[in-house]
Amino acid sequence: RLSVRLERVAAHVPAGARLADIGSDHGYLLVALLTRGVIAAAVAGEVALTPFHAAQRSVRENGLSQRISVRLADGLAAIESADGITAISFCGMGGETIRDILDRDKAHLSGGERLILQPNGGEQPLRQWLMENGYRILDEEVLRENRFDYEIIVAERSGPVSYSAEQLYFGPLQLQERSAAFIAKWQRLLRLKRQTLSNFTRARQAVPEEKLQALTQQVRWISELL
Ligand code: SAM
Repeated sequence: RLSVRLERVAAHVPAGARLADIGSDHGYLLVALLTRGVIAAAVAGEVALTPFHAAQRSVRENGLSQRISVRLADGLAAIESADGITAISFCGMGGETIRDILDRDKAHLSGGERLILQPNGGEQPLRQWLMENGYRILDEEVLRENRFDYEIIVAERSGPVSYSAEQLYFGPLQLQERSAAFIAKWQRLLRLKRQTLSNFTRARQAVPEEKLQALTQQVRWISELL
């Protein structure tokens, strides 16, 4: 059984996709999607040896070696053009890490792939990269599991697209939809950020002006949102 987080990621994978999961660890997402007949074929990319072996083992034990290629590779180097990949997932990595891999390995993208991203933090810089590279956000989701808030961002290359600073911070579709999980996430963050701000002021710490301004700006945006 998948975690709620990976189950929600799975829900954003198009039927019949040829999916590359980068940083697949044990490969549970791909094994579940193939076993259910949702996807046609898959590549599991792992940069580290222990999770690479774990993925190899789960693919073998589930009899899926013909359909899932497990590769020890850094980022999008796991993908070969003969794979005919139509969707790429990145789950459970920091948003900045996902952005850095996408940016560094752009040459491996055909531009036709759907990106299914589940960053752990760093959503804003990731959305910024998507915008700067002509990716439109098609779907977004906030969910909570084990006292963590997770976001899912689905994007496809569309040509020039423009999002405001607030849309990049909160997520353009989340801002429209205002789901209960989204509101609850930002209520929690507002409390935390207000606390940090008041600690800064009370301790008269030498906080860089830039950091203070960014935090003040965020508190203002979140208060306006709620
Ligand atoms: N995707 C799984 C999930 O969501 O449950 C595993 C998440 S795990 C926290 C992150 C995985 O990404 C690790 O197994 C790590 O080795 C892998 N990883 C980190 N950087 C990577 C890179 N540049 N290329 C491929 N895999 C990477």
